[in-house]
Amino acid sequence: MPKVEKLHKICGVCGDKALGRNFCALSCESCKAFFRRNASNYQKIKCYYGDNCLIDIELRSICRKCRLKKCFAIGMRQEWILNDEQKETRKRKIQYNKQQNNINKTIGKLDDKPSSSQPMVTTDNEVSDNFIEILENTDINEDKLNSQIRDIENRQQYFNAC
Ligand SMILES: [Zn+2]
Ligand SMILES: [Zn+2]
Repeated sequence: MPKVEKLHKICGVCGDKALGRNFCALSCESCKAFFRRNASNYQKIKCYYGDNCLIDIELRSICRKCRLKKCFAIGMRQEWILNDEQKETRKRKIQYNKQQNNINKTIGKLDDKPSSSQPMVTTDNEVSDNFIEILENTDINEDKLNSQIRDIENRQQYFNAC
């Protein structure tokens, strides 16, 4: 059945089998890794063969410049690498926080002294006074806040839109 063959996803850069979209364009794992490593160096990398190299599965590693050019040409986007990395960093941060929470909980269990026996009244009042002061002094403009939120949402849409 030759028609089934055509349904396979194919890397727009080298023609290898593609699993899905990477950085906004259909590409193979090899080109994905290549793009991640090299996209930021596009200006520095040079082609020694006239900026017109053929890129296929066998020749894709011969010229980085032309391969990168093709990556950009099929719609791979550098911003998406950043997006990807930010996601990773965020994931790591969340994991770290979870770990810290667990540690704190464990310490809390171990340290079972009733800490509320100390007179905390003055501190409590101080804290709430300061808090109210902050609330009163901070000029929170709702319109400004909303427009900032909209701005963030727009930017996210830009990142997520392929
Ligand atoms: Zn490829
Ligand atoms: Zn080239």
